[in-house]
Amino acid sequence: MGRLLLSRIGCDCPLCGARVAGARLCPGCEADILAAGPDARPRCPRCALSLPRGAPCCAACLGAPRSFARTVAAFDYAPPADALILMLKARLRLGMAPVLARLMAAAVARDGPLPAGVLLVPIPASRASLRRRGMNPAAEIARGLAAELVLPLARGVLLRRREAPRQTGRSRRARRRGAVGLFACGGGVSGRHVAVVDDVMTTGSTADAAAVALLAAGAASVTVLVAARTP
Ligand SMILES: [Zn+2]
Ligand SMILES: [Zn+2]
Repeated sequence: MGRLLLSRIGCDCPLCGARVAGARLCPGCEADILAAGPDARPRCPRCALSLPRGAPCCAACLGAPRSFARTVAAFDYAPPADALILMLKARLRLGMAPVLARLMAAAVARDGPLPAGVLLVPIPASRASLRRRGMNPAAEIARGLAAELVLPLARGVLLRRREAPRQTGRSRRARRRGAVGLFACGGGVSGRHVAVVDDVMTTGSTADAAAVALLAAGAASVTVLVAARTP
């Protein structure tokens, strides 16, 4: 449905049910979620993990350097905002994708500008999750984000080289091992700054595998844009 049309019809705020114009949160819920962001608690500039005050970087990024340069997360994967992710991924409410994209655009505006001409690239879904959902949540969010930020979007740049085991319920170490060599890059990124888009970052290993593939294909830098960061 077109954004203009959506803005003319009444919708319910997905978190509190208040009437709003278009696919978005009500101003109160939006302010609550955005106020829980970096202004309230600093995040690791590399991986967006919430940090105790005064810490410059998280222990994981200090211990094992990441291939991506920076991560912007709109909120922590915790109540109340995690409900937006569940509505998109578990209940397949596609209308949550533009809602999340709007929150991510606000987080980017607050965090600082992206490199000029950055190309948005969604993390591809596994075949199993595509079969299960009939859509890729990351790609839906990336489409909304490209519209919000007026940036080019390229699908099919990242390809899954193999099907990783389902990450849900696996240990952090198993997730990291499972992501190594996960992606190949189909080209089109040489000399370009790239921002990979995903719904949730848990350990950062999936984003790291994507960044490794993109940098090997000549990308100038890789930034990660996620709706939610697992705290
Ligand atoms: Zn609300
Ligand atoms: Zn970090």
